[in-house]
This record gives sequence, structure tokens and C-alpha cells, in this order.
Amino acid sequence: MSVSVEIRDLSISFGDGPAAVKVLPSVSFSVKPGECFGLVGESGSGKSTVLRCVSLLTDFWKGDVLINGKSVRDMPLIERCRKLQMVFQDPYGSLHPRQSVRTVLNEPLTIHKLTDKEERMQKAITDVGLPVSFLDRFPHQLSGGQRQRVAIARALILEPSLLLLDEPTSALDVSVQAEILNLLQRLREERGFTYIMVTHDLAVVDHMCDRFAVMLRGEVTEVLPRDAIARNGATHPYARELIAAS
Ligand code: ADP
Ligand code: MG
Repeated sequence: MSVSVEIRDLSISFGDGPAAVKVLPSVSFSVKPGECFGLVGESGSGKSTVLRCVSLLTDFWKGDVLINGKSVRDMPLIERCRKLQMVFQDPYGSLHPRQSVRTVLNEPLTIHKLTDKEERMQKAITDVGLPVSFLDRFPHQLSGGQRQRVAIARALILEPSLLLLDEPTSALDVSVQAEILNLLQRLREERGFTYIMVTHDLAVVDHMCDRFAVMLRGEVTEVLPRDAIARNGATHPYARELIAAS
């Protein structure tokens, strides 16, 4: 179930001609099967772009992303959509106000022609710690943390192997953040998911990640183990500064 991810010389620009902006000059790092890998760095450094390239939500024009040694470009679309799931910062943004939780969870099951839909929906909602009765709620009837739980259930229901988490707790207040992180931690331990998690918060990395990459202006300055935070084991000046400020 666990997958490895290798990001190899990933390069991307937005726009054409002289106005083109090189957002990722060249990014490389590898994530081991079952690892929680953090991506940190200042706003605009390209973290979300890297995540979007992994699932090909954003196409890249140079380099490659290998999942278990195989290019994402060669994965059939249906397999890519099932195995690679994203969870975003703003759970409200990913839930339609007029769609009940049942509709949100049913949609991927229908697209992927899965059977036992009611059973799968009930399992997904209880797996994220919400009662089955919540299937009939609408987003405005949920708290921020509950909405993020629904977004996680939406990601889980297709039994993915890689979760791409883009600041999944940044929009939540501190006590709810801890609950969601603990939920993600438990799910990883139970199911052996591989996570790539963007965060601007080194405390989150310290809580969750095995290793992390520090990004600066579209480049990875350094990949560090979690314990480098406690002893500030970074060598790159920006990474040292970031850790010292945390
Ligand atoms: P981060 O997640 O680290 O804050 P992003 O990956 O969102 O950074 O963005 C990196 C840079 O790429 C930013 O300068 C952003 O404005 C730019 N960018 C991202 N997506 C697009 C796009 N579709 N078109 C043009 N510029 C983009
Ligand atoms: Mg971002």
C-alpha cells in the first residue's frame, strides 16, 4: 500500500516569453514509502506548486515525478485520481455549500464505479471521528474542524496510497489543529499512507514529519530529519534562520 515518491529536477514556469516567471527552477527530493515528508518555507516559495505537480493538477515542463519508480505521466488518469489524494488548507473551499456530506462522499464512489457505497460512506465518516448522522449535514452545519474531517474522509474513501496535504491545519484554531494532526497521524499508522505535507509551522513538522525539505524561492535548500529542529542541525543560512525563529 505504501508508495515512494521521487521528485526529479522538477521545473515549472508560468506565463510565456519575457513575462514568464520561473516558479520552480529545479526541485528534487525523495520520499520513502510510509514516510511523512514536510515541505516548509516562506509564502510564495513554491510549496503548493510542488504538491500540485505531484498529482499533475499543475503540469510541469521539465523533470519528472516517479511514484513507486513509475512516472505520474504514465499512470492512467483513473488510477492517478484514485491513488493520489489532496487535502487543502481551507475545508470550506473544497466543500460545496449546497452539497450534503453524503453527496460529497458519494461523488468519487460514482466516478470510480465502486459498489457498497452506503457502507463505504459510513466507514469513511466514522474513520474520521464523526457520527454516521453527519452524512446528512451541509457544510454550514459543521465547525471548521468537522469540515476538515469531511475533506479528509473525501480523500480516504477511494483508499489512496499517497496523501498530499497542503497546510491542512492552517485555517483551524490551535486545539482543533492538534485534533486533526492526531487524526492524520493515526490514519498513517493504521494504513501506512505516505504523506507529503506543506506547512509553514515547524511545530507541525516536529509533531508529524520524519523528514522535511526547506524551500526558498522555488528551490530546496536542504532536506533535514525531524530532530534537526531541536538541535538546529541545518547548514543552509535560511534553514538555520527559519528553525531559530520557530
Ligand atoms: P507557496 O505554496 O509556497 O506559498 P505557491 O506554490 O503557491 O507558493 O506559489 C509559488 C509562486 O508561483 C508564487 O509566486 C505564485 O504567485 C506563483 N504561481 C503559482 N501558481 C501560479 C499560476 N497558476 N500562474 C502564475 N503564477 C503562479
Ligand atoms: Mg501554498
